[in-house]
Amino acid sequence: MGHCPQDDRGGPDPHLGRYAARTAGMTASEIRALFAVASRPEVVSLAGGMPHLAALPLEELAAQSARIIAEEGLTALQYASAHGLPLLREQICEVMALEGVAARPDDVVVTVGSQMGLDLVARLFCDPGDVVVAEGPSYVGALGSFAAYQAEVVHVPVDGHGLVPDGLRAALRQARNAGRRVKLLYTVPNFHNPSGVTLAAGRRAEVLEICRASGVLVVEDNPYGLLGFDGRVRPALHSLDPENVVYLGSFSKTFAPGLRVGWVLAPHPVREKLVLAAESAMLCPPTLNQMIVSRYLATQDWRGRIESFREIYRERRDAMLDALEEYLPPGCTWTEPDGGFYVWVKVPEGVDTKAMLPRAVAARVAYAPGTGFYTNGLGSRRMRLSYCYPTPERIREGVRRLAAVLEAEPAL
Ligand code: PMP
Repeated sequence: MGHCPQDDRGGPDPHLGRYAARTAGMTASEIRALFAVASRPEVVSLAGGMPHLAALPLEELAAQSARIIAEEGLTALQYASAHGLPLLREQICEVMALEGVAARPDDVVVTVGSQMGLDLVARLFCDPGDVVVAEGPSYVGALGSFAAYQAEVVHVPVDGHGLVPDGLRAALRQARNAGRRVKLLYTVPNFHNPSGVTLAAGRRAEVLEICRASGVLVVEDNPYGLLGFDGRVRPALHSLDPENVVYLGSFSKTFAPGLRVGWVLAPHPVREKLVLAAESAMLCPPTLNQMIVSRYLATQDWRGRIESFREIYRERRDAMLDALEEYLPPGCTWTEPDGGFYVWVKVPEGVDTKAMLPRAVAARVAYAPGTGFYTNGLGSRRMRLSYCYPTPERIREGVRRLAAVLEAEPAL
């Protein structure tokens, strides 16, 4: 939960003087704190990014999991390599081929979700005071990982076509002039969390070129890449510059987040260090869960299931965009995502989305306020709305409630 000055009974924290300096950057995310309130059934939660799992074949998965334990239990319940199971790493290469990546199984490291991949990458590359450049806004979990290693995230502006290359150049120049060391570009190129935008094809090579010329390693976080509503899969940045891109992948949005299986694909020397870091962090990723994912990929029509997830999310995106158009008061604008889970809304001047949140929750709707996605205090006129979890009807109702809350704000 972070660097809490009090224990849970409200007394002073007796451990206060003992924490490592890096814990000062560990603060409870505004979004995580929201989950408890937003999960009450009467609240329409447009706050979290929980995938829709109802389309999964639960009976079949239960039978497969039971078979794995019955037939391969002595392996499935045993320690395994920190690198990840060889068969799963081969299958991950097949998944990545869809994005134009020619990966070798040896260069894939299986992680406990891509969140752990992020943490390991930050652990490998970030010294205190190093700079990481990233989209402004950025994924909250990444901000948390970089903060934990005392790196400073410098935001680069984003427009409707993703990261702005001139903004990246300017951020790198400024950091260099200030004598700072920029280690990484952290980017979510497809269906960005939270802004919903996608890095335009024409910008991809340019962004990679800027980073290469500046000696900055690119961290490509791509959990939503296969969830484009037009069915088109954008080539991964990794496919364009494999030696200077570390790719983070995940089965959380295309299969099941509770299994916590993700991966990192990294240039070979980085991969070797990643395995060592993974070993000290967890010994090995959960063997049983890796086998469940592996069996699912081997025996199920996973491509077909991704198709049906796309359909479901496209319908929900449409429901949200229609409702925003119909209900939100004048002066609000929003992005129109081509895939993924999120719409990024800008509200009229004078409205503060963080201050408004308790009023929204009282009106039984929740969203993620914008400030949590920045390290520099920006975002007070923004909010992230997720359409992945509620049904289209609930989305409409949630947006209707949100619009009523906005209309009642004194600034409007
Ligand atoms: N990166 C981004 C951009 C995400 O949106 C998420 C999940 N919300 C993650 C990483 C973490 O995913 P995982 O479940 O694989 O840890």
